[in-house]
Amino acid sequence: MRRITILGATGSIGQSTIDLIKRRPDDFDVVALTGGCNAKQLAADALALRAEIAVVDSADCYGELQDLLSGTGIEVACGAQAIADAARRPADWIMSAIVGAAGLPPGMAALEQGSTLALANKESLVTAGPLLMATAARYGARILPVDSEHSAVFQALVGEPMDAVERVIITASGGAFRDWPLEQLKSATVAQASAHPNWDMGQRITIDSASMFNKALELIETKEYFGISSDKIEAIVHPESLVHALVGFNDGALMAHVGPPDMRHAIGYALNWPDRSHLPVARLDLAAIGALTFRAADEVRWPALRMAREVMAAGGKMGAVFNAAKERALDAFIAGRVGFMDMPAVVAETLAKMSAQSGLQNAPISLEEVMETDRLSRICADAALAKLG
Ligand code: NAD
Ligand code: MG
Repeated sequence: MRRITILGATGSIGQSTIDLIKRRPDDFDVVALTGGCNAKQLAADALALRAEIAVVDSADCYGELQDLLSGTGIEVACGAQAIADAARRPADWIMSAIVGAAGLPPGMAALEQGSTLALANKESLVTAGPLLMATAARYGARILPVDSEHSAVFQALVGEPMDAVERVIITASGGAFRDWPLEQLKSATVAQASAHPNWDMGQRITIDSASMFNKALELIETKEYFGISSDKIEAIVHPESLVHALVGFNDGALMAHVGPPDMRHAIGYALNWPDRSHLPVARLDLAAIGALTFRAADEVRWPALRMAREVMAAGGKMGAVFNAAKERALDAFIAGRVGFMDMPAVVAETLAKMSAQSGLQNAPISLEEVMETDRLSRICADAALAKLG
């Protein structure tokens, strides 16, 4: 029996993880399940999986969770600290699937027990890549990538020498607006940006796919996770979302990972690693698909990609600034306070203002330092947002 914890259990990745675990009830012992505020879903899953503890982030739904689980023997708790404490409970495999920088503290706590962290929360690597990797090394923990592109790169690298890697290419569907005329993007609505052509995901990452902030985060994620220099990392638009990434070697070979757009593949690969095991994902009929197409990623349409290059070149704590500014700009877009193309403008302004501050050139050495940069960057982004309305 492997002991499993899922951080962000009520979300899109969390629910896909639970789907896989429920299919193999004899293999897993569920320790902790955490969620933001969906007490009903969390309680139902905690009961079905006989979890030790269920934790919500928000006090607003704690009473409901207590009511739903009273008399069941399942512990309940509430708040960010309780989520980090749940991540510290002994477990063999911990899924990090909270959205945003809020996923960093519990992810770090999980690493300190020297277990395997299946990392969907790309924001952890963007905000604190060197710290996260150093923490894993220090405690003998292992991080397995769950982002589809990074799982694909990881799989293409099995048995290959890293010094033979010439380039890594991650694909992007192009999101909801890949074929829109550039001038229409300004008036794109939240509903339009929330409709992804290929993937079924949480709302925030879906909008980040339309703006390419998701791919921007993933470029940085690639650099931090694989330790590959930024000049060797590329993003390319691939509307079919079937090739997830390619690794190019010094003999000219490209190893591509091809599969259906279903996150249960990347989650299942991390769950079964280092083995492979049957997964309930569709098998591709290549003859029916017929063609796979690719096109260059346009940095005018998607300024987020250009900013990712700047952030990688600057290093230090600029990843934390970039992510925090993006989170606040996205909050404002979802709330209807700013337009779609205001998001990259606000992030660019925050990067420019924050880069003038001292101390940001050095990579973070503690969680506290990262969270402080995150806090200051949010204030700076909010000031830029306030000017827009
Ligand atoms: P989601 O919004 O569907 O779910 C997020 C989960 O985190 C939910 O359980 C939510 O309740 C919880 N949560 C939100 N804010 C929280 C907070 N402040 N404190 C504690 N818990 C909180 O998101 P998702 O689409 O499942 O994405 C989760 C992570 O996985 C993100 O980092 C995303 O970038 C990454 N990811 C997602 C996909 C996908 O297909 N959905 C693919 C690749 C990577
Ligand atoms: Mg991805």
